[in-house]
Amino acid sequence: MSASPATFESINPATNQVLFTFSIDSSEAVNEKVSQATIASGDWVALGYKGRQKVLLAWAKLLTDRIDECAELISLETGKPTSDAKLETALAIGHLIWAARNAEPVLKTEHRRPGLLMINMEAKVERSPVGVVGVIGPWNYPIFTPMGSISYALAAGNAIVFKPSEFSPGVGAWIVKTFSEVAPREGILSLITGLGATGQALCESDVNKIAFTGSSRTAKKVAAVCANGMIPVILECGGKDPVIVDEDADIQQAAEYSLWSAMSNAGQTCIGAERIYVHEKVAAHFTSVILEKAKNVLPGAPGSGNYGPATMPKQLAIIEAHISDALSRGGTAILGGLKSIKPPYVEPVILTDVPEDSSAMTEETFGPVIIINKVKTMDEAIALSNASTYGLAAAVWSKKNGEKIASQLQCGMVSINSTISFAAVASVPFGGVKQSGYGRIHGPEGLREFTFPRTVVRARFQLPVAFTSFKRTRFADKLIVTIVKALRGRSIG
Ligand code: NDP
Repeated sequence: MSASPATFESINPATNQVLFTFSIDSSEAVNEKVSQATIASGDWVALGYKGRQKVLLAWAKLLTDRIDECAELISLETGKPTSDAKLETALAIGHLIWAARNAEPVLKTEHRRPGLLMINMEAKVERSPVGVVGVIGPWNYPIFTPMGSISYALAAGNAIVFKPSEFSPGVGAWIVKTFSEVAPREGILSLITGLGATGQALCESDVNKIAFTGSSRTAKKVAAVCANGMIPVILECGGKDPVIVDEDADIQQAAEYSLWSAMSNAGQTCIGAERIYVHEKVAAHFTSVILEKAKNVLPGAPGSGNYGPATMPKQLAIIEAHISDALSRGGTAILGGLKSIKPPYVEPVILTDVPEDSSAMTEETFGPVIIINKVKTMDEAIALSNASTYGLAAAVWSKKNGEKIASQLQCGMVSINSTISFAAVASVPFGGVKQSGYGRIHGPEGLREFTFPRTVVRARFQLPVAFTSFKRTRFADKLIVTIVKALRGRSIG
């Protein structure tokens, strides 16, 4: 008698109620899904851009029709308000539609100039899907985040094997199920469930690329495993995103949006504000405005709070350690403090004057905690922002200097006089630098990321002088040198 497969439970973090039970897929099960996907990918490619667009737009319609169902499920598994879950789903659908509509124009074959020496050649670059993409997702935005890879990879012609986080497998299963209702066949988008080991098995399988979103710690493990198989990876990791508030900023707006960026989703946003550098001339004003606004923000179960519980119980210890470190090193709590941690909830915490080397300033807190530090100049704000080992996103608030400041920041995305808005603009790439990862999802870059360039060079006619042959003569040698000298300073390409 064979042993029954191991399982794990998905739990509502607000109530501790068990929601679903899923199997912990073994490496054999993962390999089987990957081989099915490899077979299915041929049919998916054969559909062509137009055929795939039709399927993906039908999926977008279905997701739109069932947005309430999706939001309810996200809210159950993560504890976030359904209104936030609806916004998240709407943004994911926006990306799906953009990817479906733009895959062909972005990925169509490009003709390149062959250059004078190769004048007889036609040169072009085709974009080929990589094959099967393994998508590993986190739980904090369980539809928006994985769909940033899934939508673009599918539109580019790849099949997908998707491993959602163990905290949001129900949403992952729902994504795959809804696709199956419009898909021309099985295996184009399939689900595997389990814990970290199942994700690792996906990295060890025959996938052609891994798109990982999660912590930098796990990203390094993923990259190390993938290195063994020479599997390319996209790593979308955490951040310690700074907000810079200049002396000419609209203080009301800067405070309103920064507060939302830091506290919404219980602070569990990779591109959420974690530290604010405010010009000393407006620091007191900014601090008093954000403090007043924060007093009206409270956590609670969906339907009763501005944001929900910490989805992952073990994060509470990290939040506590960061607050504790900040306070013991001379930081001041102007709202809340250690007493704000009321499992599974954390009330808003605002700290000021926290030393830059405190863990609250150097590590991702991933809780509703914001730190406000004063700076004398914008150069100081830029230097402190860039001192982080992370480089995901940033926000700049300034009427006159926004672009000048933004252009000096070492991060993948910046919003000026707004917050997080780049995530909702489908035509721009999303991703980070440094410990925040590499590779890009969204936009044309996100489509190209799931393809490889195939160079095709065709002889339109044979030149009377052979250069790439053992028949090359002294005359050909002289001709090459003569042409290069004649074109000195000008392009031969
Ligand atoms: P984790 O790194 O803990 O997990 C991410 C995914 O990797 C999960 O599906 C997890 O599975 C899986 N996993 C765990 N171990 C392995 C392994 N050895 N090999 C392969 N896969 C593995 O991150 P979280 O789920 O906690 O997500 C939060 C993090 O994600 C934060 O740091 C946040 O900043 C970041 N993030 C980044 C975004 C971006 O686009 N840059 C967007 C959203 C979040 P399991 O859950 O089953 O352990």
